[in-house]
This record gives sequence, structure tokens and C-alpha cells, in this order.
Amino acid sequence: MNRLLTLCILLLFVSYSNAQEYTAASVFAHNDYVHPIPFYSSYYLQAGFIEADIFLKGDMLLVAHTTAEIDDANTLESLYLNPIQKNIIKNDGYAYADKQQQLTLMIDLKTEGVATLSLLVKKLSKYPKLLSCPTLSIVISGNVPSPERWNEFPSFIGFDGRPNVNYTKEQLARVKLISTDFGSVSHWNGKGIPVQEDRDKIFALRDAVHNQGKKIRFWGAPDFTNAWTRLMEFNIDIIGTDDVQGLMTFLKNKKKNFYQNTTFHSVYKPTYSYTKKTGAPKNVILMIGDGMGLTQLYSGFTANRGALNIFQLNTIGFSVTNSSDSYITDSAAGATAMATGKKTNNRFIGVDSLGLPLISIAEQVKKAGFRTAIISNGDITDATPASFYAHQPERSLSEAIANDFVSSNNDILIGSNTKAFNNRSDGKNLFKALSQKGYTVTEDLKTMDTIRNNKFVVIDNIAGASIANGRGDFLSKAVRKSLSSLTKDGKPFFMMTEGAQIDHGGHANDVSYVVQEMLDFDKAVGEAMKFIDTNGETLLIITADHETGGLSLIGGDITKGNVMGNFSTSDHTSVMVPVFSYGPGSESFKGVFPNTAIHDKIAELLSLKKKQ
Ligand code: MG
Ligand code: ZN
Repeated sequence: MNRLLTLCILLLFVSYSNAQEYTAASVFAHNDYVHPIPFYSSYYLQAGFIEADIFLKGDMLLVAHTTAEIDDANTLESLYLNPIQKNIIKNDGYAYADKQQQLTLMIDLKTEGVATLSLLVKKLSKYPKLLSCPTLSIVISGNVPSPERWNEFPSFIGFDGRPNVNYTKEQLARVKLISTDFGSVSHWNGKGIPVQEDRDKIFALRDAVHNQGKKIRFWGAPDFTNAWTRLMEFNIDIIGTDDVQGLMTFLKNKKKNFYQNTTFHSVYKPTYSYTKKTGAPKNVILMIGDGMGLTQLYSGFTANRGALNIFQLNTIGFSVTNSSDSYITDSAAGATAMATGKKTNNRFIGVDSLGLPLISIAEQVKKAGFRTAIISNGDITDATPASFYAHQPERSLSEAIANDFVSSNNDILIGSNTKAFNNRSDGKNLFKALSQKGYTVTEDLKTMDTIRNNKFVVIDNIAGASIANGRGDFLSKAVRKSLSSLTKDGKPFFMMTEGAQIDHGGHANDVSYVVQEMLDFDKAVGEAMKFIDTNGETLLIITADHETGGLSLIGGDITKGNVMGNFSTSDHTSVMVPVFSYGPGSESFKGVFPNTAIHDKIAELLSLKKKQ
């Protein structure tokens, strides 16, 4: 019951803290007429507010920024009233095709208020379609006549109010929004956050406006991504911008860029007991977070309220990830480099840049009598795991890659993509072939823990589902199961475990996907860390093949566990990736080194070169 209450309070809190839903309706196209295509560019982006400054000249209302720019051709009618009318007719009487969506034409009076507004009223009377449109508002700002005179103007004219004015009830009814100069409350330049004193002023002003039942807008506020983010956090209702396209893109991506975590895991405190002994490791666990750059790690850290298993480790290096034919690697060349110690071309699996087979670390240790396991929470024939057991010039050859596993001598394989094994174009059933070679094979993850055989293959497509789609704690379970099997007969072992889907979240530009997969991977790392502390002879290396998405963090709250990201690409980036290590031999993984060094250092620590 208590738990339920806490959950309810938490949910209330979460919904309150993100109370305001920002859409195109919140966007105020400041000085719209200066855009290369006045009205239409903001209108097609469905801005809620479109602003035009007008000057009275004779019997004309001319749209311009200053008197120097006045041009008799730019009448309010030609630039705004005619196009709006045309669209209202097209939309069966509504401002936008979406009949719910409101449009406010903000008319900023640059010349004397009463005369300019009187002419505007006269001109508008020739546009009955505008006046009868239920979703179009005409709101006057700038040289607004004093509120005592508002009743001289027809009711279709609304007014832009000012804070700290005591409007009568009738006057307030005609106030559509309340605006003020941002400079009157703060000197903030939009970077970081305003100082506390200014924040308090902003909040007091906002609350006063909200208490009058009105929406607040600043003019002259900083106008770029960070400023928008903060103003929205401050619940400023209407965001004025000169960059309508930029703000719209930002709003469109905002949902996918924000993630509030709700399930937090406690981290394992490593004992560092291995440091009391000297000597080389007997076993190696390599854990690869596909697409896991520093930002992915830090977003997981933030979402888990300032804690990650991985961040408990203090031996840290950086891996330079470029492939032999590209500044930006893919997972095939990245994993091949770590598996074989040789840089190769993108898309190449376990072969060099000429297409000739390389020997992977898994194959090397096999020859030295090790036991081996290859685990992924994705397609087990995909590039990362495949590079440890297959040799193909093209990563998409999943059936050929599956064949390579059958002819490899690895002990354990866990992941998804049953199709590559038993629903193939050549009609072969590789599960049968694997059974004949002495493996226990299952397509049901739930039966994994019942397997007694030390050689087993678990290929269940649920392993390739995302956390959000119900994969559950598969990866941690697979790590535990494999470690218990690999240690049964006292032989040394090599285990590669991939957190495959941090990368998928990056490609999808989806922060919640990235963070949930990052945290799942971190839990699996926690299992490996616990193992190191009980075993003492095992080296754990945690790294990535590359970063995915060009993710940056533009907001977040480490105490609440939420994070706001921003992606610069839907593909991989070239930035080097962190390498964390724990256990005997971990000191070798300090500094900056090419990704091929991961292989070379492991081979050296296991004295494989000598044995080869
Ligand atoms: Mg991968
Ligand atoms: Zn990728």
C-alpha cells in the first residue's frame, strides 16, 4: 500500500514537473516578415503566433521593421490578410487544416496607436472570413491604445497585455497574452542558467501572469537551443523566436530527446581484492557496449541518479576507433579490430582489408585450451559477435556467418536470430548440425538455466527485443549462466558479451532507448564485477566499438534521474571511446591506444603470442 502511495506521488510529481506540453502552438514567429518568405514559412511550420510590424502611411498599413525599410509594395493585405484569407477558405473556415489549431496574427503597431488601429479595423472589415474564423485571433501589440479606450474597438481585436497593469475585468477579457521585455528581469545570455535572483524574478512574473489566467511571453529573450530548453523548464508558455524552423525541429525531437528514468538499480561496490596479488590474468571477459560513447555512459549515470557499476572502476583508457577505409568505423571493422588486432574495412567481418581471414582472439585462446562464450542481446550473427567467430567480406551475410559459428569451436553462443540457423535459404538446419556436434541447443531463453552441458547454444529472438519491448534481465542472466558454466572444469576462459542495442537507440535518435539499454548493460557489467571479486584471476574489459548518434546532453537532473539529449547524426561518429578495466592486467589498458590494442594487450597478458 505504501509503495502504491509512493508511486502515485512519484507519478504526480513527474507529470507536474513536465506539466507544459510544448508544440508548434507555443511558437511565436518574431518579426515574421523579415523571413525570405513572409507568412508562408511560419504558416507551413504551423506556428501558433505570427508577428507583423506595421506602419501607418496615408491610407496604407505597411509591414516593415523600421521607417527606413518601408516599401509601399509590402502592405499588410498583400503579405498577411490575403494569404490568411486564402487558407481559411481552403480549410473550411479554420486557420489551419487541423481544426483545433489556433493561429494568432500579432500586429505590432509601430505608428500612433489609435489612428493605426482605427485604419486596421477598417481594413479588417473587408475580410469577413478572418473575423468569423473561430481559430484565428488578431492581437495588437506595440503602440497599444490605453486600456480605457479598448472598448472603442470591435471585440475581434485582442490585446497584448503587460505585467503589473491593473486591468478591469472587461479589459482583462481582451488580453490574449501578457508579454514583457526579457531584459527587464534578467541579463542572462542564454548559456547555462540564469542566476538564482533572476530565476526568482522570472518565476514571480510567470506566476503573477498565470494567476490572471493568461499566458506569458518574453520578447528579447535569448534564442537558441539551451535558452529554449531552460525557458520551457521554467514554464514560459510562449517561446518567441527568429529561428522558427530551428525551434520546430527542436520541439519535434523533444519527446524522443527526454527520458525520465523510473527504475533505478543499486551499484556493486568492487573490493579491488585482486590488487593484493600480482601476476597475469587467467581468464578474460570483454564487454562491448555497441555505440557506447562517454555521453551514453553519462546519460545512464544521470538517469540512474548518479550511479553506474562501470563508473566504480578506476582504470580508464581511450580507444581510437577508425577503420582502415573510413574515419568513422562501423561495428564490423570495430569488432574485427578488437577481435583480431587488425584494422579492416567497414562491413568486413574477421577478414583483413584484402578479404583474407584473420585469426580472432577467440580462435587463438581455443588453440591454447581455453573455453569460450559469445553473448549478445541482439542478432548473434550481427557484426559485433560475428567478428569473434566468423570470416566474411560482408556483414549482412548472416547465413554464411552462422555457418562459420558451426565450424568454429566456441563453447557457448547466446543471442537472437533463429532464422539464420533454421529458416535458411539453403534449407539447412544448423541447430541440428550443432546438436550433432555435441551442443545443447534451445530456442527458449527460459530453459537456459536448466542446461547442464558445458557446450550450449541459446538462440531466442526475445534476446533481440529491446528492454522497452520486454527483453527483461536476459543479459545479466546470460552472463551469470555462462560464467558458471565456463568455470566448471577449471580451464581458462574467454567471454565476449555485447550490449548491442545502445547503438540501436543512437541510430533511432531515441534517448529513452539509449538510456534503458545503457542501464541494462551496466547491470550485466555489475555481474561480471562481482565475479572478478570472487574469482581473482579474471580480467574484465569494458569498451565500445564506436559512439552512435553524436549524442550530447543539453539538460538533465541527476537527483531526479532525467536526461535531455540531442543527436547530431543518425549514424556512428569518430570520437574515441572509453575503455574501463578491472582485474589483474587492467593497468595495461590505460592511456590512448588504437582499438586493435585491445586484442594485442589481451593476447600479451594471456601469453598467446608465444603459444601460437
Ligand atoms: Mg553490434
Ligand atoms: Zn551502429
